[in-house]
Amino acid sequence: MTGEDLRHLCDRLKPFGGASVFAEMSALAVRTGAINLGQGFPDVDGPTAVSEAAVDAIRGGFNQYPPGIGHPVLRHAVAEHQQRFWGLEFDPDSEVLITAGATEAITASLLALTGPGDEVVTFEPYFDIYPADIALAGATRRLVQLHPPDYSFDPDELAAAFGSRTRVLLLNSPHNPTGKVFTAEELDVIARLCVQHDVIAVTDEVYEHLTFDHNVHVPIATRPGMAERTVTISSAGKTLSFTGWKIGWVCASPLLVKAVQAAKQLLTFVNGGPFQPAVAVGLGLGDEYFSDLAADLQARRDLLCDGLSAAGFKVAVPQGTYFVIANVSGFGETDGLEFCRSLPQRCGVVAVPVEVLCDDKAFGSPLVRFAACKRPEVLEQAVERLASLTP
Ligand code: GLN
Repeated sequence: MTGEDLRHLCDRLKPFGGASVFAEMSALAVRTGAINLGQGFPDVDGPTAVSEAAVDAIRGGFNQYPPGIGHPVLRHAVAEHQQRFWGLEFDPDSEVLITAGATEAITASLLALTGPGDEVVTFEPYFDIYPADIALAGATRRLVQLHPPDYSFDPDELAAAFGSRTRVLLLNSPHNPTGKVFTAEELDVIARLCVQHDVIAVTDEVYEHLTFDHNVHVPIATRPGMAERTVTISSAGKTLSFTGWKIGWVCASPLLVKAVQAAKQLLTFVNGGPFQPAVAVGLGLGDEYFSDLAADLQARRDLLCDGLSAAGFKVAVPQGTYFVIANVSGFGETDGLEFCRSLPQRCGVVAVPVEVLCDDKAFGSPLVRFAACKRPEVLEQAVERLASLTP
């Protein structure tokens, strides 16, 4: 996208006006016939019981506007899910709001809670919409770096990012793109700063069920002082493998839900009528559905990490999420963006450059992100192709 293409776009959004890197890389995969390990979406659909429930809902009269806060059956299912897995109690009638995916939930939360003059603290690298949403709200981002190899943060750097203008701490755990799962101890450091500075935590937990080895997801809302100051966000996309349905939710105290709903109703008003009862069926699946999902993805993570290491990448083994970050310096290269643009030609694989998920380009430059959420035979073929790469 050139500057000329964006001439009608307002200055506030110009820096974010090009195609998202995920869309650009998926288009590159389609154009070149390369294996797409760029955009994070599964290449098989989720449980048949859930898709059948959507068909039943379409045939069964769930086709008009749902209530503004979402169909009761899904709000109850979300509240039960939060209780079953994380011990969090939410009133389904006043503390749960259904949204158009986590994306709308995050956008609506930032629009509702921040404005010009306010600051939002978040981590780098970041998911691409975070800086764009902060800018859309007219607020300013304050970034704190997650340092390789384990992508930990320095508590002093985090403390230095908080100040009198900080309104929101935007947290993503498990974290895209690093695969980091924040520990309870790390969350307590963040929580203490939120309490001290009277800051609201907005948390993107869409990979909540995708954690590996001994790592477990801990919602920051469970930490001391955080229940009343956290907007907990998640969605059905990754948990149920229906990323195109765009059903997400917000769980928070009644007044925070009211604030986010005020913004949400101006964005989509309501969304996804027949998918809402279907997602309720999915959230009610037995415990083994959720544990099998993680175990299955862990095996694919191992396949991808082993293949990348054997091919010459330096790999940070992720604790969760769909993603693996690899360093291209083993090939004598430092420019991950160029590396990703040439990769389809060189060996028929698509990845995402981490540089575009960073303000500090030098920091992100040698890093590229591969998605592990594809069928094992696809991953096997991809690592075979990557093994042919030469410096
Ligand atoms: N969350 C997915 C990813 O990180 C898809 C993002 C997108 O296409 N907007 O790849």
